[in-house]
Amino acid sequence: MSLRIAPFLPELLRSLFKKPVTVRYPFEKTPVPAGFRGNVVFDPAKCIGCNICVGDCPAEAIEIIRVSETEKKFKMILHNDRCIHCAQCVDSCPTKTYRMDGEFEIAVLNRRQLKIEYK
Ligand code: SF4
Ligand code: SF4
Repeated sequence: MSLRIAPFLPELLRSLFKKPVTVRYPFEKTPVPAGFRGNVVFDPAKCIGCNICVGDCPAEAIEIIRVSETEKKFKMILHNDRCIHCAQCVDSCPTKTYRMDGEFEIAVLNRRQLKIEYK
């Protein structure tokens, strides 16, 4: 038996003092690459209510609702259970109201939790 282990011993001993090559996810979160398309984030202060994003979203995941009759203020409802993270809304919005964050842990047990309201 010792004869069979012998060829592996040097590598085994070296490995004892090396850092692991695997990542420790989920105990340590690994950084996402630049340009990663996580969740859509909406900035209500920039929205002018043109609805271009609503028409361009291929997943019908966006609702824009006027919140005040007197002021030009809008809220956005994102149906994140439909969103395919294509970033078309980011490209289409003329006022740069959208950005994508780096979040990827978005699984939930109830899809109603994926309806997100920004106001
Ligand atoms: S990322 Fe794509 S699918 Fe998601 S809300 Fe924006 S346009 Fe719609
Ligand atoms: S495209 Fe931009 S400005 Fe127009 S409604 Fe959508 S978020 Fe608002």
